[in-house]
Amino acid sequence: MALISCPECARQISDKAIVCVGCGVPLKAEGSRWTFGKVAGTWVLASTADTLIRGVVFIVAAAVVAVVALLVSGRHG
Ligand SMILES: [Zn+2]
Repeated sequence: MALISCPECARQISDKAIVCVGCGVPLKAEGSRWTFGKVAGTWVLASTADTLIRGVVFIVAAAVVAVVALLVSGRHG
């Protein structure tokens, strides 16, 4: 097992590591089922980012539907 320097924080980590134990930057994202996204400065699993995005989209969609429903009901008195 060799040690490499993290490209993000320069910490000494295993070349077998999937992510840096120091800063969490993905090291083996390519060719792996693990995919990552950077949200608010923090590396997270793609599934977590996907959940966040779906949640935001759902809330926005629900807000639009609520506003439209209010406008329609107001128009009909
Ligand atoms: Zn790092």
